[in-house]
Amino acid sequence: MNTRKLYYEDPHLTEFDAEVLSCESVSGGFALVLDQTAFYPEGGGQPTDLGVINDIPISFVREKDGVIIHLAEQPLPAGTKVHGRIDAGRRRDLTSQHSGEHIVSGLICRRFSCDNVGFHISDDGVTIDFNAQIGWEDLLPIEEEANRLIREDLPVRCYFPGAEELAATDYRSKKALSGEVRLVEFPQADLCACCGTHVVRTGEIGLIKLLSCEPHRGGVRIRMLCGARALHYVRTVCEENRKVSALLSAKEDATGAAAARVLKELAQRKVRMAAMETAWTEGRAQAFAGRGNVLLREENMDPDSTRRLTSELMKTCGGFAGVLSDCGEDGIRYAFGMEGGDLKALTVSLNAAFSGRGGGKPDFVQGTLHGSLHEITQQLRGSIPQLIVE
Ligand SMILES: [Zn+2]
Repeated sequence: MNTRKLYYEDPHLTEFDAEVLSCESVSGGFALVLDQTAFYPEGGGQPTDLGVINDIPISFVREKDGVIIHLAEQPLPAGTKVHGRIDAGRRRDLTSQHSGEHIVSGLICRRFSCDNVGFHISDDGVTIDFNAQIGWEDLLPIEEEANRLIREDLPVRCYFPGAEELAATDYRSKKALSGEVRLVEFPQADLCACCGTHVVRTGEIGLIKLLSCEPHRGGVRIRMLCGARALHYVRTVCEENRKVSALLSAKEDATGAAAARVLKELAQRKVRMAAMETAWTEGRAQAFAGRGNVLLREENMDPDSTRRLTSELMKTCGGFAGVLSDCGEDGIRYAFGMEGGDLKALTVSLNAAFSGRGGGKPDFVQGTLHGSLHEITQQLRGSIPQLIVE
């Protein structure tokens, strides 16, 4: 016997009385069938309702051949009179995301003559896929129109048309349908075959915010949020933008241009810095031309700069070329080079003595050590004869 679907009769119903028809032990709990239910089963892109039946948690609800099956943590014998209560906040949220999706999909499919080829609601958000090339700018009028329809608080109609009426009706459908078809009509936006729960009036959705539009499998994937989730998103983004605005001393509606200015300035400085560093590196290496074994001790040089200074020094000093860069908590970076030399044994012993990591080719090694600059220098003095330390 088909379960009476109270969620179709009153989508706002969150509590109901019913009678247990059957209860079977299944993997994960007990499959509970009632004569009627307000629990919506997973389907049509809308996740399952959660809640309790006689205070027993229901963790999943599905429909099979017209029968709604509740997965309960504990058994309830057939014939028991029960009281069910669905998680109203969750249902309101899912209904709002789903209903918003109808309005957006209906408007997009009509405007771009395409199909909705995927729909997913998760905790992270809502995505809809379309088999058309749609740009972000194209979506702004859609968002505008969708929110206008919400403000107009239009009545939503769900109905089961007769075969003749159905045949004469032009409606959206995600797949080929068989049996009784339920149509959902959002005035001026959508007429679609759908088994989900919907708002009674569009005003209940509150707000639709489109977030992004990215290429996806030859079409596009649109991310969007509705209702309380949309408000929460807008609030979070405003708060982040307020911080950026304060950091950049820019108006809240001009942070993008201010950030672009800062990044441009930074890029120009990087170019200048790179030229200055090249000159400094070459000058520093030149100062030790022909001096033999040399160890330079620097501060806070990044791995690339440490390596470059060692390479330059290798070209000029005519012996062992070493750079140690004290980087505080990050340890002491090293880069050693020696034309035709073999620095492997030296590296292994230093890494072992100072909890280090690193290595390289026989004539060029680099890595990081942890220990005092003084002790590392002493160990190098012990290994390399007549080492000049600066
Ligand atoms: Zn629907």
